[in-house]
Amino acid sequence: MMVLLAIAFALLHACLVWLIPGHAIVTSYAFLIAAPLLALVAAMRRAYVTGLALDRGWSLAAASLLLWTLGMISSLRQDLFLANSNEAPGETMLFYVLYGVPVSYAVATVGAATGSLMQRVVDAVLVLALGYLYFELMFSWVDLKGASNATSAQMIAYMFDVENAYLVLTTVIRFLSADTVERRHFFGVLFAFIFSYGVVAAYYNHHVAMDLAKNIGSTYDVIVDVPFLLFAILAMHGPTRLSQTLKPPIGLVRFVSSGSPILLSLAVLGVALLLLPRHFGIGVAGIIVAVLGYGLRSTLSQVHLSETEETLRHDRTMFAEMALRDSLTGVPNRRAFEEALDREWRVAVRGQHVISLLLVDIDIFKQYNDRYGHLAGDACLRQVADVLQHALRRPGDMLARYGGEEFVLILPNTPGAGAQQVATRLCKRVNQLQITHEDSPTGGVTISVGIASMIPQEGTAADDLISAADGALYTAKRNGRNRAELAA
Ligand code: GH3
Ligand code: MG
Ligand code: MG
Repeated sequence: MMVLLAIAFALLHACLVWLIPGHAIVTSYAFLIAAPLLALVAAMRRAYVTGLALDRGWSLAAASLLLWTLGMISSLRQDLFLANSNEAPGETMLFYVLYGVPVSYAVATVGAATGSLMQRVVDAVLVLALGYLYFELMFSWVDLKGASNATSAQMIAYMFDVENAYLVLTTVIRFLSADTVERRHFFGVLFAFIFSYGVVAAYYNHHVAMDLAKNIGSTYDVIVDVPFLLFAILAMHGPTRLSQTLKPPIGLVRFVSSGSPILLSLAVLGVALLLLPRHFGIGVAGIIVAVLGYGLRSTLSQVHLSETEETLRHDRTMFAEMALRDSLTGVPNRRAFEEALDREWRVAVRGQHVISLLLVDIDIFKQYNDRYGHLAGDACLRQVADVLQHALRRPGDMLARYGGEEFVLILPNTPGAGAQQVATRLCKRVNQLQITHEDSPTGGVTISVGIASMIPQEGTAADDLISAADGALYTAKRNGRNRAELAA
């Protein structure tokens, strides 16, 4: 449907110019202003759909299309109102060359690793420098009235070629390495447009304007509609199948998205070099801006990268710690316990040291939960964990939440008698907490402890120690709870 409308648009343009030659100039201007405006509307619509932020690119494309339209309006003004028949009036040419500036900015910054405000400022300065250098370059060949001789007109045509070639090259790279469908669509549309525009502009500037028809108002003008109509169709259409299926290699994506900000400095450098023979001072200044901009830009990305790295390192440490901690009580969790027991067990095997293990289980805790609620149960668990933690005296001792309302303690280098003392102390401390528990014989929360001690032999596993402590805990429960029992 859209394609048919575009064909109708171009045919109408051709027919009207051909059939009513008396009004050919006005007709052609009308179509040549309407075509970029259609593309502009399509770009604005995309910008509206995808978000107006500059880093989506569509608003930058819209800005470029606006500059080009202004160029055509300026041409109309020179041609019809000021009766200036020169084919390259300075004002008009300036709009045409500046059209490349917003898209150059898009090519360098859309989807590039978003950096700091400072980075954006550097980019903005580079873009302004690019615009200014284009301005100087343009007015080194023409004045406001136009090109004074054929060579200048030729030079301007070459400058447009260079600008378009640069944009074709950079947009195709960005298209091929875009990592999201939205960006692929954007750079795909931009590439299709700039490529066709580049071809049309080269043909028109070098051939039509020089040899065939000096000014607007011939049927050749119809070819200029084409790139803009193409842009409008593709932008209105939304992401095509191609942009959805293309999957660039990740290495290329990284390389281009890290490297694309350099393109802005390169563009400035290129224009500055072109300017050098004509305006030495400004050319040199342009080169300095390009180099400084490049250096500052990469330093800032480096800074941004180190900041990201630091945050990541910090997060990783935090997550590693979190992975070994019980979230309810804050004491080490079962995984931390297993790692620690494995370590201590091997130390004890090697040195033939005694190692003790205490399994702590809160008495009739199910009833506590039933009577006081789960939240009160959680609070009680936290209090018990806290008191157990503070009852430990030796630096090598370790407390962990074993699961549910059970805790476990590893006491390296501690014989049974010592472990029993610790266990008795734990029972006493929990009693002293005096957490009301009406279903308990003592009227408060109590714990039972199973103790196991052994000098581990080569070839035995720590599991033996755990099951021995578990057996002792069972005995403590059977013997009336609120007590510690040592495994035989
Ligand atoms: P015993 O004296 O024989 O140990 O009796 P008990 O009721 O303590 O034993 P049981 O193992 O049957 O019940 C343990 C209860 O601990 C079950 C559950 O309600 C409670 N529990 C386990 N984990 C949590 C927890 O994270 N928060 C709370 N609030 N309760 C828990
Ligand atoms: Mg239990
Ligand atoms: Mg229990």
